[in-house]
Amino acid sequence: MKQLFLWITLFLSFSCSFHSQERRDSFDPTSPANTLPASVTLASPDTLRLLFVGDLMQHQGQINAARTVDGYDYSPCFAYVKEAIRQADFAIANLEVTLGGKPYRGYPMFSAPDEYLTAIQEAGFNVLLTANNHCLDRGRKGLERTLRLIDSLHIPAAGTYLNIEDRCARYPLLLEKKGFRIALLNYTYGTNGIPVPSPTLVNLIDTTVIAQDIEKARLLNPDVLLACMHWGVEYQSLPDKQQQILTHWLFAKGVDHIIGAHPHVVQPIEVRTDSLTLQKRLVAYSLGNFISNMSDRRTDGGLMLQMDFVKSRAENEKKGAQLTKCNYQLVWTDRPIHSKKKNYQILPINFPPDSLTTNSRNLLNIFKKDTRELFSRKNKGIKEQFFFKKIGK
Ligand SMILES: [Zn+2]
Repeated sequence: MKQLFLWITLFLSFSCSFHSQERRDSFDPTSPANTLPASVTLASPDTLRLLFVGDLMQHQGQINAARTVDGYDYSPCFAYVKEAIRQADFAIANLEVTLGGKPYRGYPMFSAPDEYLTAIQEAGFNVLLTANNHCLDRGRKGLERTLRLIDSLHIPAAGTYLNIEDRCARYPLLLEKKGFRIALLNYTYGTNGIPVPSPTLVNLIDTTVIAQDIEKARLLNPDVLLACMHWGVEYQSLPDKQQQILTHWLFAKGVDHIIGAHPHVVQPIEVRTDSLTLQKRLVAYSLGNFISNMSDRRTDGGLMLQMDFVKSRAENEKKGAQLTKCNYQLVWTDRPIHSKKKNYQILPINFPPDSLTTNSRNLLNIFKKDTRELFSRKNKGIKEQFFFKKIGK
């Protein structure tokens, strides 16, 4: 497959707004951190690229750090990863907060400023998942407001609905581009014990309902059928029995690939090859946190998963699109308490270490070592890749 290589130097020009003297960002254009040379591999024109990340969290520390004199600015959070996100045809993330309006709050009942959503879109995410255990943190009004806001930015979303008519009209989510048709399903194990208020709907994991949805998805004649699952046990690095049973069931029902989130730590990725059809099927049990204020070991990072699809052209080939390439890049969140910068920043794992504080460098290395150790034992059929290749220091 043809690959185009585009060398991109990121000249970051975000303006810093100051919350307080001690949290000030010092922007030094000569610092390697501010001119990170990078390469991004583009997908060829007949290839559809999907990119997935895990949980977009929003704790109180993040709200405080993003506050400016007249609002909130989250753009620095995504400055070093947005080039890779934007290269995807569809960049898909789990929005694990409500946009429930003021008062803005972090854990345990999340309501993020609206600027968080605009920054997420600006970073390149163009599909959002909303079925998660925090979607009802602000009740019915919060769920509705979140959906209205997402819709006002024309971002396709799956997982929660205003009512049954809304769900019938928008689910399963069909994504179309470059002649590809991708059907996407999204479910959560629960809503933190909050009953789903009528008439809103949250896609809960229920195999009877999922089986019906898969049938409905088939009628859309998709090239690829994806299931995005909010599942698993928090802080567990391995999938539990239920995740494994559900994976087996979803594949048996005809789902092509499964992407998971929720445990706040990464879990292994397996690419299985069907012995008869040679079709590849990927399950990523948990992508970890994409951004958060979590500090416990293994919760301060996550991964960006990239999947390239090419349509079958030959007569004798199975219809649909084949997964021709997949890889992942580890990312780690540098928090102001360590970086001494104003805002949180998601960093590619190969970020120039000498541009980090000693604390940040040590923590990034711990996350990298833990994850590589786990993945070297448990991953199957997939390799780590640097979406950003350093060409200088
Ligand atoms: Zn969750």
